[in-house]
Amino acid sequence: MADRVAIYPGSFDPPTNGHIDIVERSARLFDRVVIGVGRNLSKKTLFDADQRVALMREACKGCRNVEVNTFDGLQVTFAKQVGASFIIRGLRALSDFEFEFEMGNMNRKLAPEIEMVYLMTAPEYLFLSASRVKELVAFGASVAELVPPNVAKALQAHLGQGGLRTGATESND
Ligand code: ADP
Repeated sequence: MADRVAIYPGSFDPPTNGHIDIVERSARLFDRVVIGVGRNLSKKTLFDADQRVALMREACKGCRNVEVNTFDGLQVTFAKQVGASFIIRGLRALSDFEFEFEMGNMNRKLAPEIEMVYLMTAPEYLFLSASRVKELVAFGASVAELVPPNVAKALQAHLGQGGLRTGATESND
């Protein structure tokens, strides 16, 4: 049987423990998982795409069948480029559902041969988002339990360079 390849696309600005949980679970479901770090020009990010790739690579180095790349453009185009037949997304509260439902339907129209796979968040990560993490750091709160250690370090380094600005990123992550 051919390898089951999936992509896990997102902004990952920065990667959180919620993302890593989805990666680890996906790595058990698929032969190969390619994380796609979006270079989305319409989203202002705290970390540039190369930094987000480096943070994700370090955080996922325990998963041997996981790779991390950047992508721009459509999720389905990236999936085809890496030979993936599945697109993984994580689902948290109801608010994620509406957005994902719309995007999933759009992806299906564009590439019906690619299947969307939604993994329900682990309850401890239900209210964890990259935006909240950035907010907490900006207000001086510890995020040690919310992000991988290398991400916590990178956030601290940013703080040292004059702090994080809340509202610098406009996203529904
Ligand atoms: P995007 O900008 O594409 O929404 P994100 O980096 O915010 O990218 O999220 C990438 C994927 O990870 C999305 O499917 C999102 O729903 C999921 N995700 C984000 N946070 C969590 C979490 N705490 N638990 C489970 N899934 C999550």
